[in-house]
Amino acid sequence: MGKDTGFLDFERQEPDYRSVSERLSDYKAVENLPDEEVIYDQAARCMDCGIPFCHDYGCPLLNIIPEFNEQVYRGDWTEALSILLSTSSFPEFTGRICPAPCEAACVDSVNGDAVTIRQIELSIIEKAFAKGLMKPQPPASYHDKKVAVIGAGPAGLAAALMVNRAGYRVTVFDEAEKPGGLLRYGIPDFKLEKSVVERRIRLMEEEGITFEPNVLVGKDISTRYLMNHFDAVILTCGARKPRDLDVPGRNLTGIFYAMDFLTQQNKRVAGEAIPVACNINASGKKVVVIGGGDTGSDCIGTSLRQGAKEVIQLEILPKPPVERAETTPWPMWPMKLRESHAHKEGGSRRWSVSTKSCFGENGVLKKIRCVELNWLNKDGRMVPEEIKGSEFEIETDMVLLAMGFTGPGNESLIADFGLETDNRGNIKVNETMMTNVKGVFSAGDMAHGQSLVVTAIYSGKQAAKGVIDYLSMEAGNK
Ligand SMILES: Cc1cc2nc3c(=O)[nH]c(=O)nc-3n(C[C@H](O)[C@H](O)[C@H](O)COP(=O)(O)OP(=O)(O)OC[C@H]3O[C@@H](n4cnc5c(N)ncnc54)[C@H](O)[C@@H]3O)c2cc1C
Ligand code: SF4
Repeated sequence: MGKDTGFLDFERQEPDYRSVSERLSDYKAVENLPDEEVIYDQAARCMDCGIPFCHDYGCPLLNIIPEFNEQVYRGDWTEALSILLSTSSFPEFTGRICPAPCEAACVDSVNGDAVTIRQIELSIIEKAFAKGLMKPQPPASYHDKKVAVIGAGPAGLAAALMVNRAGYRVTVFDEAEKPGGLLRYGIPDFKLEKSVVERRIRLMEEEGITFEPNVLVGKDISTRYLMNHFDAVILTCGARKPRDLDVPGRNLTGIFYAMDFLTQQNKRVAGEAIPVACNINASGKKVVVIGGGDTGSDCIGTSLRQGAKEVIQLEILPKPPVERAETTPWPMWPMKLRESHAHKEGGSRRWSVSTKSCFGENGVLKKIRCVELNWLNKDGRMVPEEIKGSEFEIETDMVLLAMGFTGPGNESLIADFGLETDNRGNIKVNETMMTNVKGVFSAGDMAHGQSLVVTAIYSGKQAAKGVIDYLSMEAGNK
């Protein structure tokens, strides 16, 4: 423990954000990098408690948080880095966009405020990059076995990093123009600037990993090709099949999937071409975002930056309590009202609202009709009931559907491999992340459903471990 009275001496200092007016004028990161002097004090707030819930309950990667906190407090950033990298593949991503379940499980938060773990993590890794400590780590030599990773999102990147370092040649295929998955084409730049993703991809290439972009596996190359040319395959294609709005008027012009909208803006920021005919832009529009989660909030921030006239976010679930709900006591991830930085930038929110129909003129969206819901507890299950007479209309010329994702899509790829899926359409894997097909593994959202970057990274690492064990066992059996 660095300073035994640290948690009494120093208050939690929240991350520093650029002013709303400044950040709405660009797509750059809204959060400033942490100030080094502040971070020493914040690290000193760690109590190094007997059972570090942050580490073994909160963080999906099992980051050894009290130990790196102590090294930061002592000023030994190199040791802190080595502790962090012993569990975390890409702290520069999680340090920026992880919702930090570790902080929800921090013992300091029982009666006070959690340690700013995410920011400490970000400071350690950014200092390491700035000091040139993040060098490629290629393996000393390579085995003669080759591994294909399909999907260059965080799960695929984490798997590729670990398998390559174990001495197996890795090729990462992705249908997109550039690697990164949702880190690059989903999550807006104002949360994660793409130079951070590019910096990591460069490092991975220098380590010996080959990236093959613009390859749609199942079409441009077949599953048979993969099985013939590689000794193991890891499928990390994400879960990108969007939930649709099944109401009259859904086909009117002006209703878009959130991901189509967000991907376009990320491409614009990166200078990638968007065909004019497919242009989706909120400039001057009255926008309704349907869906109250992270994707919805990213749509708000993007719409406001594009110059929307008005933004309203509708959520079907009831408004959560301001404080942690009794059903999610510490150290659980709390069910409570969350206000993202996009919410602080503008727009309004409504809860317990269901959209019933969309109306237009000459095929173009003009308004939507909604109804308010009453959520009833029926035998322990929350069931919505429409409130009679509560129907209302919203004038809108753009609706963004951000209601979550229903599965991995990629039906023909899954069928070609002969993969079993669970009742939610996710790829079935065993404890080593191997599918029902020998040598084919899966990880990330494709295997578990839409989740978080941190869980995708953990899952990718688990699949890498499965592949490494599988290949060494296969070699031993020869
Ligand atoms: C808008 C949005 C915002 C989010 N914000 C956050 C956040 O702030 N914090 C957080 O922790 N999580 C966030 N998430 C969730 C997080 O991004 C995902 O859980 C994570 O990216 C999943 O990683 P993955 O590697 O499994 O899949 P993905 O990131 O989806 O990557 C899958 C990759 O596979 C490729 N692919 C698919 N099929 C094929 C094929 N047949 N051939 C070749 N390539 C293929 C795709 O092109 C893609 O690059 C957000 C998600 C969305 C949609
Ligand atoms: S990855 Fe997320 S949960 Fe783990 S230490 Fe970092 S911020 Fe916390």
